[in-house]
Amino acid sequence: MTTMKITHHLTDDLILGYSAGTLTEAVNLIVASHISLCDECRAAVESYDAVGGAVIETADTVAVSDDCLDGALALIRKSPATGATSEKKRRNDPVLPAPLLDYVGGSLDDVKWRSVGMGVKQAILKTSPEATARLLFIPAGTAIPDHGHNGMELTLVLKGAFQDEDGRFARGDIEIASEDMHHTPIADLSEDCICLAVTDAPLQFRGLLPRLVQPFVKI
Ligand SMILES: [Zn+2]
Repeated sequence: MTTMKITHHLTDDLILGYSAGTLTEAVNLIVASHISLCDECRAAVESYDAVGGAVIETADTVAVSDDCLDGALALIRKSPATGATSEKKRRNDPVLPAPLLDYVGGSLDDVKWRSVGMGVKQAILKTSPEATARLLFIPAGTAIPDHGHNGMELTLVLKGAFQDEDGRFARGDIEIASEDMHHTPIADLSEDCICLAVTDAPLQFRGLLPRLVQPFVKI
């Protein structure tokens, strides 16, 4: 794992939102999971946290808006720094990063997979409803049907790798697909692929069959 090379990272907006505590629970979860695997993005979050801390410390010397205290308290409550401390005490799972373990009940063995066809399995994680987080199991060499997005889709690779129009994504890499992007991710032939995927709106499938089954599998 020390040789892991992450080439696809978070955007500044996501890092800033995580540091400020303004992300939805599902997006927060995937950002925290990436950061637990990525030294580069973790360092970026720490520097934003330091700036936020300095703003709070000097807040009584400048004119502040009425909701400043609420904002500062929200920031403290959601501070990733406190989360990071407790995460270190948790046990390690070779595939799932620490922020995910509580969501699946302890380890990869506790994931309650449901088949969605073609050998692909998913497990929807319980988060607040503004966005959906799911673990995806994609058998080696399998393609996820070509789809677009009504909103944003974030995909973090936890095991194996996949390739699509945007490049190759392996453990620790995060793909950020926007509304106008259509893609067909294909898992590497050598290994089954496990990803954490977060969407803030339902996916749009192009083929008729995926559109028919979509309501049943809640993709
Ligand atoms: Zn990163």
